[in-house]
Amino acid sequence: MSKVTELRGVRVAVVGLGKSGLSAARLLLREGAQVSLFDEKPLDALSGARELLAAHPDAIRLHAGSPFSEGPLLEASLVVVSPGVPLAHPTLKRVRAAGVPLMGEVELAYRFLPHDVPWVGVTGTNGKSTTTALTGELFRQARLRPFVGGNLGTPLSDAALSAEAYGAFVIELSSYQLEAVDQFRAKAAAVLNLTPDHLDRYPGLAEYGAAKAEIFKGQRVGDAAVVNADDAEVVALSQRARVPVYGFTLRAPQDRTAAPDSPGAGASGGKWAGLAVPTESGFAFDFGAQARFTLNNPALRGPHNLQNAMAAALLGHLQGLSGEVIQKGLDAFPGLPNRLESLGRVNGVEWVNDSKATNVNSAVVGLNAFPHGRVWLIAGGKGKGAPYSPLRDAARGRVVAVLTVGQDAPNLVKALAPEFEVVPCGTLARAVEVASLRAEPGDVVLLSPACASLDQFQSFEHRGNVFRELVQNLKRGQATFPAGPRG
Ligand code: ADP
Repeated sequence: MSKVTELRGVRVAVVGLGKSGLSAARLLLREGAQVSLFDEKPLDALSGARELLAAHPDAIRLHAGSPFSEGPLLEASLVVVSPGVPLAHPTLKRVRAAGVPLMGEVELAYRFLPHDVPWVGVTGTNGKSTTTALTGELFRQARLRPFVGGNLGTPLSDAALSAEAYGAFVIELSSYQLEAVDQFRAKAAAVLNLTPDHLDRYPGLAEYGAAKAEIFKGQRVGDAAVVNADDAEVVALSQRARVPVYGFTLRAPQDRTAAPDSPGAGASGGKWAGLAVPTESGFAFDFGAQARFTLNNPALRGPHNLQNAMAAALLGHLQGLSGEVIQKGLDAFPGLPNRLESLGRVNGVEWVNDSKATNVNSAVVGLNAFPHGRVWLIAGGKGKGAPYSPLRDAARGRVVAVLTVGQDAPNLVKALAPEFEVVPCGTLARAVEVASLRAEPGDVVLLSPACASLDQFQSFEHRGNVFRELVQNLKRGQATFPAGPRG
């Protein structure tokens, strides 16, 4: 793939008109390209594309509402592919075979951004958004004016539209985005973990992992990789890194995994370039200045957030941040909504919104963040068919009762009763009412549903918003609940 520099008058196709496709289109228009926009959705479902067309009628051709067709794509000198569209799409494969270069939105944006500043990339199956946002906070504390986005929040092409505003880039990357990078260079690149996901798009875990490992592709001398040293799949992937590999681990020394024997390891082959390891009050680096960090930010509770914090601290350190700045960022991080988000206390009871836990594994991760608590767990919604037994194991010793909501409540009852008291509540409002009546000072009420939200809500965000509002009402002492059967 050649360097894209001069696009004035050049025809470029954008395939897929979601948030990042539209952002790429805006960047291409700024560069003076003639833009062909493609989406299989009908025009009335593409309001963003319609607006763009209305603003640039002479520079845009819109192909909507039918399968991508080769003819108009072949007229382009470059095709920018949105993450929602697989590069393995048969039409795209034929277009590429005909000699038209393809690149992802991240790759396009990268070519229009400064490269002499810190660049951090974060990927993995879980924890990407938290780690990206937290790393962004570390750079914010350093007053480096970071752009924080990518898969999370704002597409990278938006950054390229006002590149001068930023002094560092912290980018969340999905496997879909990483399929389509080439020169993109994350100077510090993290792979947090790898568990089976998106297997509708990839033939297997190996292919999914290979897409994630593309984060190492553009790295050069002086760069570094950060990986979860406790995840054998991730350690195996990091063999592909050609730079020093740093690990983070929750394990005791005798249980630790050997480092990958990567080309980047040089003379230290098989040894970690450095590790972040847990301490009584947080974590420490076992290299260099042996920096120690305390972690007592409630927005970073649980062993999974210790991992996210270690990854973020390593990434920050490897891009030049001081220990002092890193500590400030760890303390200041406000957390992300819907991920173990503390909504505060009412009558001594803490309310926590973990609406993002849309599957059993995430709810287990959520529960594990309260090792000593008396937890009232609100769970249920649209079930995904996975067994609830891991939830039962995680609930043991900490859950007082489970308040069920939504469609899959009967399956939760089957899996959890009679070991646990299960109170079928039907709605979130009713569950909040029951919890508010029964929880005692010191208890935690945790919404960590283990289910999708779509039976009762538009999205997990919507579910989280409703829960937040219900708790706000409790705080204001004006909770009004619809009449319903008492649980
Ligand atoms: P992503 O952007 O990868 O979806 P998030 O930071 O939004 O990740 O977290 C999503 C969910 O994944 C959280 O609600 C939590 O249950 C789980 N999670 C977060 N960090 C980790 C981690 N390091 N390891 C395992 N699970 C995690």
